[in-house]
Amino acid sequence: MGSVNGLTSLQGKKPLFSFGVISDVQHADIPDGRSFLGVPRYYRNSITVLQRAVMQWNHHGNLKFAVNLGDIVDGFCPKDRSLDTVSRVVNEFEKFNGPVYHMIGNHCLYNLPRRKLLPLLRIPSIDGCAYYDFSPTSEYRFVVLDGYDISAIGWPQDHPKTQQALKFLQDKNPNLDKNSPVGLVGIERRFLMFNGAVGEEQLHWLDSVLRDATNLKQKVVVCCHLPLDPGASTEVALLWNFDEVMGVIHKYDCVKVCLAGHDHKGGHSIDSHGVHHKVFEAALECPPGTDAYGYVDVYDDRLSLFGASKMENCDMHFNH
Ligand SMILES: [Zn+2]
Repeated sequence: MGSVNGLTSLQGKKPLFSFGVISDVQHADIPDGRSFLGVPRYYRNSITVLQRAVMQWNHHGNLKFAVNLGDIVDGFCPKDRSLDTVSRVVNEFEKFNGPVYHMIGNHCLYNLPRRKLLPLLRIPSIDGCAYYDFSPTSEYRFVVLDGYDISAIGWPQDHPKTQQALKFLQDKNPNLDKNSPVGLVGIERRFLMFNGAVGEEQLHWLDSVLRDATNLKQKVVVCCHLPLDPGASTEVALLWNFDEVMGVIHKYDCVKVCLAGHDHKGGHSIDSHGVHHKVFEAALECPPGTDAYGYVDVYDDRLSLFGASKMENCDMHFNH
């Protein structure tokens, strides 16, 4: 718990349900390295962090499901070992005594095309898209967004969505290297090849799911590999059209929390409409002996995250 007061307020009240969380495992059987900004990355150790996460989740004994926020295998994984490495990581997730809901991240897509990746992750899919929703209890709905719906990675090169993404980057990013934010200012810095957007059809789907949840008086948790709020994330990690997605979310009162990965240092914010945004710390950046995973207790008026080691605890109270 983050505070003594938090502890006190929890006494005597049982959560409606609880679930496990982990993000950015980015495993590969390669020597340790560093990010573009020089942050150490422990590619081999990250699967050990996942193994400990699954052990702890099972030990907890009362987690209804687990959520993986994406990027399970690193882009530096040798391509001839992509399938084996993804399968190895998926196999570790499957040791959890419950369902795991996966998201795809850019690093997953560097390794495998959607048609191979989605079945391995058991992601329900229409036309290769990876967005879906589920209701763990009648009071709650979880909405998983596909942040790489419009993207220059993951779809075949001649796919209309690849073409749409390349044209978008051409318009928005003047650099030859479309993964470089040089010259872009503020939140424009998100217009990079390693990010993506939620497409038109998915936005309509999101709208209809939130309308349905509102009618059913359900509270909604939105999950997306890419963060949706500049207050919780560095600019270079944001979804291209986070503003459009939040425009749909803010039409309704049902969404209480948005969960994300991708921005490895983690973060938390509350936006202008009182929606919490929580970005999880990456398992990849845990030096041996440290961890980044956790579980969330869900109540009717808040979510409480209990993080291991490098993952910070976070109490997310709803304002209405
Ligand atoms: Zn990512």
